[in-house]
Amino acid sequence: MAMQTIPVDPFDLTIFGATGDLATRKILPGLFRRMRAGQMPKEARIIGAARTEMTRDDFRALVKTSICTACNPENVQKSDLKRFLNQIDYLKLDVFADTDWHRLKPMLRKDVVHAFYFSVGPGLFGRIARCLKEHNLAGDDARIVVEKPFGRDLASAKQLNTDLRSYFHERQIYRIDHYLGKETVQNLMAIRFANSLFEPLWNSHHIDHVQITVAESLSVEGRGTYYDKSGAMRDMVQNHMMQLLCLTAMEPPSKFEADAVRDEKLKVIRALEPVSTDDVVRGQYLGSGAQDDYKSHAENPNTVTESYVALRADISNWRWAGVPFYLRTGKRLRDRVSEIVVVFKHAPHSIFGFGAARGGRNVLTIRLQPDEGITLRVTIKDPGPGGMRLREVPLDMSFAEALSAEVDGMPDAYERLIMDVIRGNQTLFMRGDEVEAAWAWVDPLIDVWAADTKLPQSYDAGSQGPEDALHLLARDGRRWRRIGGDS
Ligand code: NAP
Repeated sequence: MAMQTIPVDPFDLTIFGATGDLATRKILPGLFRRMRAGQMPKEARIIGAARTEMTRDDFRALVKTSICTACNPENVQKSDLKRFLNQIDYLKLDVFADTDWHRLKPMLRKDVVHAFYFSVGPGLFGRIARCLKEHNLAGDDARIVVEKPFGRDLASAKQLNTDLRSYFHERQIYRIDHYLGKETVQNLMAIRFANSLFEPLWNSHHIDHVQITVAESLSVEGRGTYYDKSGAMRDMVQNHMMQLLCLTAMEPPSKFEADAVRDEKLKVIRALEPVSTDDVVRGQYLGSGAQDDYKSHAENPNTVTESYVALRADISNWRWAGVPFYLRTGKRLRDRVSEIVVVFKHAPHSIFGFGAARGGRNVLTIRLQPDEGITLRVTIKDPGPGGMRLREVPLDMSFAEALSAEVDGMPDAYERLIMDVIRGNQTLFMRGDEVEAAWAWVDPLIDVWAADTKLPQSYDAGSQGPEDALHLLARDGRRWRRIGGDS
């Protein structure tokens, strides 16, 4: 079955920071794939903007290289590439130079969708928003796309919201969290709200606990000094993991529409109990040799920034009372895994008696990476003669297998989200009040850590994380799913 692609309306997309890592690695190759899939119309135009002095042809050559690096070369046809590059322009623009801004106006066409992607450091977001308005470049229907990080605490996020809203309506602001563009994350909503099987069980009567893991096997080497200013709590928990928690825990929205979905997510964040310091563990990885640990990569022997965090979150509402959500994320762990694991309660009574072994718990695993898909563990009879013995087996639905024909053409998170911007669909973007509520929840912990004399606990490179994180669950009579292997 071929994947349906409906072309979006003609657009002018201006990418500020078009020569940078995100634009060349994700945004531009993603747009190329959307053009190849027939979703980006031939009337669409992309205007790259950055300070680097270069001609349109120089920029096109840079884009060509980026596409050839990011896409499978077998799928890059010369004719597609030529057509795509013809839709690309470049403007040398320093956002601090008023004279440069004047040169953008004549490049923008009338009667097309106007979108402006802020793929630059967060310090420039407010300035760009102001200049777009002051130079009369963005009308009431224009959209702005803002990258993470959205602030580094509640105060700075509020200030940024105020700055952006001074020039744009909330309906024009698209705050990207690329996790929301992932196929499986949207499938989580489909699984919950398009099937009658799970939702009746999706509560504290039937669910024992939930584990959300975003584990990386790589270190922060090469960008340690940058990472050291944020740490795992700011970099992952406040945004990506909070979004995963919200989608798992929210009530069914009345419609799959931006504000209906975002209202429900916001209610979850507001229902989160403050986290006690006993319920959080922070860690720093050790290396396999000298100069290979977190402190060396951060180039700061005294750093207390966490490369790992695990915590227990409790949601104070009827649905989730007494059901802990355990979150963990870290660098340089055993494997690269992102997953949401919903662990159901044991069957209330075993009829099979001594020798049969108790049936295990049903476990629903929603895998974001690697190998996006969903697995449900169920208990069955061990095949063969010899009485009734039970064993657990996975019912596995890997999207790569189930949807093999479509997966090849499946847009990645950035492509999908950019097309949503052009369509004017904010469902998979964060609203300003959501971001602020998330900061309001993590800020007190970050503040406590700033004054804490207890240092982050060390963990070995390639391990499951710090010992204390294992105790966090063990003390509740539970254990983490193994990173990089079943348990
Ligand atoms: P980057 O590689 O440092 O690129 C920054 C871009 O901004 C460059 O194109 C630079 O080009 C341009 N720039 C800097 N100062 C400018 C100015 N005064 N006027 C106009 N352009 C200016 O950064 P990045 O990694 O692409 O990240 C961009 C944004 O995305 C950041 O907010 C980052 O946090 C966010 N983000 C990045 C990633 C990622 O994977 N890279 C992931 C998530 C979020 P010139 O030097 O030519 O001006």
